[in-house]
Amino acid sequence: MKRIPEPFRIKMVEPIRMTEQPYREVALREAGFNPFLLRSEDVYIDLLTDSGTGAMSDRQWAGMMLGDEAYAGSRNYYRLADTIERLFGYPYTIPTHQGRGAEQILFPEMVKRRGSATPVFLSNYHFDTTKAHVEIAGAKAINVLTKSALDTAKHDDWKGNFDLAELLHAIEIHGRQNVAGIIATITCNSAGGQPMSMANLRTVSGYAREMGIPMIIDATRFAENAWFIKQREVGYAERSIRDIVREMMCYGDMLTLSAKKDGLVNIGGFCAFRQDEDLFRAVQTRCVPMEGFITYGGLAGRDMEAVAIGLEEAVESDYLAYRIGQVAYLGERLRNAGVPIQYPTGGHAVFVDAAAILPHVRPEQFPAHALACELYIESGVRAVEIGSLMLGRDPKTGEQEVSPLELLRLTIPRRVYTNDHMDYIADALIAVAARAESIKGLDFEYEPPILRHFTARFRWADTAPAASNKELVSA
Ligand SMILES: *Cc1c(COP(=O)(O)O)cnc(C)c1O
Repeated sequence: MKRIPEPFRIKMVEPIRMTEQPYREVALREAGFNPFLLRSEDVYIDLLTDSGTGAMSDRQWAGMMLGDEAYAGSRNYYRLADTIERLFGYPYTIPTHQGRGAEQILFPEMVKRRGSATPVFLSNYHFDTTKAHVEIAGAKAINVLTKSALDTAKHDDWKGNFDLAELLHAIEIHGRQNVAGIIATITCNSAGGQPMSMANLRTVSGYAREMGIPMIIDATRFAENAWFIKQREVGYAERSIRDIVREMMCYGDMLTLSAKKDGLVNIGGFCAFRQDEDLFRAVQTRCVPMEGFITYGGLAGRDMEAVAIGLEEAVESDYLAYRIGQVAYLGERLRNAGVPIQYPTGGHAVFVDAAAILPHVRPEQFPAHALACELYIESGVRAVEIGSLMLGRDPKTGEQEVSPLELLRLTIPRRVYTNDHMDYIADALIAVAARAESIKGLDFEYEPPILRHFTARFRWADTAPAASNKELVSA
């Protein structure tokens, strides 16, 4: 596969520490075999998330010096709002401290407006904070994702699409008057950063308009989605990324965006409205006590400047070709070595099919988490489980919920690591997969009641003896 060189040169470096395997074994044991509890200094390459972990450009850093830290009416707010209007065509912007800040002020107002006793939101897939804020607002979050997303080996260009038949079915069952909003998540994070096609977005938006349902775009990875449309969708190859972004956004009524992803900043977000000025005013009112005054929403002036510049950089073709190309390169290296991954790779991560690599590890002993632990010990690379551990137990029965997939997510920060880093990661995971048979699952030593993956502690399960792991436990 052709390697795409980085479209930047490095002006400032941050040293990262390479450690020895015995050191990592101790560090992981002290962290209760939970990579979330490692100190980041003990991590060589950090693939926990692409959220807020990107590198800002020299222009963004220069913009940070132009912060207008006025409490109200900051110059940087107007620059941000102008940028959003130009890129997305949405004239009404409310900045927030990050994406969930936008969710927490928007959703309650939408539920209130719907005035239903049993409100629901329908989405291709609610991101976890999105689901949480839908539920906090008193509504139910229902996912109607295309089924091909669950088949990691099946090639489908649009694994982020809505299942249209299921969407219509859900609207019928719940009643259109009870649907507080349809949320199109582009790209679809939970499906593996998989893109949604323009055709699917247009159709879903058409249904929403016809039935009087508000259409929300979770535009967190808008630029990556636009890139996939340009590459894959008939009729878009010659269109500019900006043009594609404008078209995607015209199908929504309002958007939420975490700028920590395609916004290319370490903190920030916003919600914006295409024409509903009343709703904009009502959400502004909620912003003040929750996020801050309406022209800063939890951000410093300099942060808003960096977001405005980052949004513009995110739609540059050279950047996107490199960005998506780097993720695809890592995926290709793994696939060529026989490591099963969600295919084709999406925008921000490679998802490794841990259930296929460790068929002997039961879901309750978390195959993807076991793989994450082994990868860290092997290489100092930190990745994250997206599977049964993250899903948790049924709150009513206490039973472990059945996750359709057990995935190890290798999330690639933007503009941070080079292709040599990608080779190092691939080599390490290939080595781990080669000794898959000796890898055991994990049992809880401490299981928190909710959001357990963040703070749980583990020990290696006693079943399936493995020499290397036995040493670890007894050492
Ligand atoms: C990260 C993310 C959010 C939430 O944004 P935060 O900035 O983490 O609060 C919402 N939706 C999607 C799709 C995301 O990836």
